[in-house]
Amino acid sequence: MAAEHPRRTLAALGLSPRKSLGQNFLADLNVARKIVELAQRFPPPFVEIGPGLGALTSLLAEAGTPVVAVEVDRGLAAHLRDRFGGGSVEIVEADFLAVPTQEWRRRFPMGGTVLGNLPYSVSSPIVLRLIELRDLFPRAVLMLQREMVDRLCAGPGGKEYGILSVYLGVLAEARKEFVVRRTCFHPSPDVDSAVMTVRFIGGLPEELVAALRTVVRAAFARRRKTLRNAPVPFLPGGAARWCDLLAAAGIDPAGRAEEVPPAAYLALAGALARL
Ligand code: SAM
Repeated sequence: MAAEHPRRTLAALGLSPRKSLGQNFLADLNVARKIVELAQRFPPPFVEIGPGLGALTSLLAEAGTPVVAVEVDRGLAAHLRDRFGGGSVEIVEADFLAVPTQEWRRRFPMGGTVLGNLPYSVSSPIVLRLIELRDLFPRAVLMLQREMVDRLCAGPGGKEYGILSVYLGVLAEARKEFVVRRTCFHPSPDVDSAVMTVRFIGGLPEELVAALRTVVRAAFARRRKTLRNAPVPFLPGGAARWCDLLAAAGIDPAGRAEEVPPAAYLALAGALARL
């Protein structure tokens, strides 16, 4: 099936790209093929976040792959329903972030794989939501702003390393796969994008993950200061107790949040969870 340029499809539908919804449509079929090939290494069924005009969806539909595609834009969702009705693709008109976990469990009783060229304005909340849903969707292929991918895949020691890098560093193997130039989209965004794969690692107890969230947020709350100055209102005993926990995890309280590797944060979370 020859892909029409998004400009022409939008014009035919009488729609304009909505910046507030991060609508930069992929206009390069080779890039779409590369992304879908990566996704197809992981098990179906798929959930696609923000199918837009269907650049990725159409390739999955051609292969007969089962997909639930969640699109918030009413006009696009209607177009996609017309286009994919009767095939392996189901279009759900919804805000991905508002779909409750029980609804995902109902639709994907055996789990599945996530795919998406994410709307950039909500890419951090979507990554956080995918972390919450990791037992159900242990694999994801995501296109995001290149800088964001660099942040998500960053190791310790630099400015790019932050809260989400630590979460993914502990809970997943996250890998930057390839860069996609801004000229591959319509309209063209101000920055390049990149595609990443995420393979979540199962088996960490929920209370340990909750403790991880607590310690990482505290550590990065004042990332320019030393760790001993982290705000720790959750901890009876305050700064002194916090320094004991840091010591138990082998972390130097005179160091900074961005210098601590994911494994040490996990040890710190373990120390907090054992309290
Ligand atoms: N997948 C298409 C492509 O590659 O050309 C479109 C990608 S575009 C970057 C992001 C899409 O996500 C848009 O279609 C937008 O309407 C949709 N979107 C934005 N926010 C959303 C949300 N919260 N839930 C579901 N879809 C959303």
